[in-house]
Amino acid sequence: MTLDDHAEELASDLGVDKEEVKADLANLVEYSVPVEEAKASLRRKYGESTTSGEPTGKEIAEIATSDSAVTVTGRVLTVGKRSIRYQGDDLVIFEGEVADESGTISYTAWEDFDLSPGDSIEAVGAGVREWEGKPELNLGSETGVSFVDTIDVPYEVGGDTELAELAPGDRGVALDVRVVEVETKTIDGRDGETEILSGVLADGSGRLPFTDWDPHSEIETDASIRIENAYVREFRGVPSVNVSEFSTVTPLDHAVEGGEGAPTMSIREAVTSGGMFDVEVVGSLLAVRDGSGLIQRCPECGRVVQRGQCRAHGDVDAEDDLRVKAIVDDGTASVTAVLGTDLTAEVYGGDIDDAREAAREAMDQEVVADSIRESVVGRTFRVRGTLSIDDYGANLDATEFGPSEDDPVARAHGLLDGGVGETGDAAAAGRVGE
Ligand SMILES: [Zn+2]
Repeated sequence: MTLDDHAEELASDLGVDKEEVKADLANLVEYSVPVEEAKASLRRKYGESTTSGEPTGKEIAEIATSDSAVTVTGRVLTVGKRSIRYQGDDLVIFEGEVADESGTISYTAWEDFDLSPGDSIEAVGAGVREWEGKPELNLGSETGVSFVDTIDVPYEVGGDTELAELAPGDRGVALDVRVVEVETKTIDGRDGETEILSGVLADGSGRLPFTDWDPHSEIETDASIRIENAYVREFRGVPSVNVSEFSTVTPLDHAVEGGEGAPTMSIREAVTSGGMFDVEVVGSLLAVRDGSGLIQRCPECGRVVQRGQCRAHGDVDAEDDLRVKAIVDDGTASVTAVLGTDLTAEVYGGDIDDAREAAREAMDQEVVADSIRESVVGRTFRVRGTLSIDDYGANLDATEFGPSEDDPVARAHGLLDGGVGETGDAAAAGRVGE
């Protein structure tokens, strides 16, 4: 079809002047708008009723990011309410998931359609945009939302989930959790200084950090609570639970158990999850990387410095520290385990003063890293900590580090009890290889 044919068709559908439509259409196409999208936009402009040329009805699984507008009939699974700043204004939006028999899709509602979890709706003229690589429905002023008879869908209604299931981007989430730790922080918010809460939540599935942007008094250390209408964002490489002014927090009449131990996973599984707040892996220590042993840090920013030069602060009076960066591999993948001052001192068998003394005697601080290499390379370790992914690969910031029961050296020397940096609990929980 030529532009003229398209204009002819539109003009007769809409009952308007063909030349006027043609000029509009030519204008849009000139700006690289695909012709079908341009026609849809003109149908809206000329106020066509939805009886003809109505957006295509689609099954949810068929919706693609290339669709401009669709009609969807489905069941609302979750509804999250959130305030955002949009073009300088505070705007309340609603987000969640809607499902039909074929699948689920996220939506953002820019107006209050009075949606509740469990509602079955028909959304005529829902916009489609790409969000985190997937299609998402946009319900706005041009969308007609009506309530229809209940649709059965093979998905659970309501946002009830557990911490291990959460991924960045989840909205309208409901959780029964225990507050492991919480502290009040003052931040520079968009409306000046404001207090927030931050800490760690636990349930039977694991632990995750959280932020409460509108402090709820029910959130206190050791409280077992139900949080409704939370959303999930990525923070320092791991999912973080966000509680807002629209979330409700209710004390539970029972204690939520769990969250003491970390799940043990293959390194590949942990890495492909995109980041884990608290995880345990077991693998062979292949190498101790450069920048381990006795190192020097900038007193201002903590960065490791070379020959007294900080990348950010130039010539500084650097401070000594101990660190290990070790490559641990379990056959599925590898990760760089990072041991801080205390864990490194235990592995080395001495503190910063001892390391300094050894370096002075040898006139070479590499002797500290070499000594650590000798005692750990080739052995099997259990490492627990926070796994995050950056441009350089996967890092496991260790909170616990000890020989695995699989480790032949530890077995031979009966070192398993009171191994490096592990607590009795962790040792009891580390039944790997049984
Ligand atoms: Zn610095």
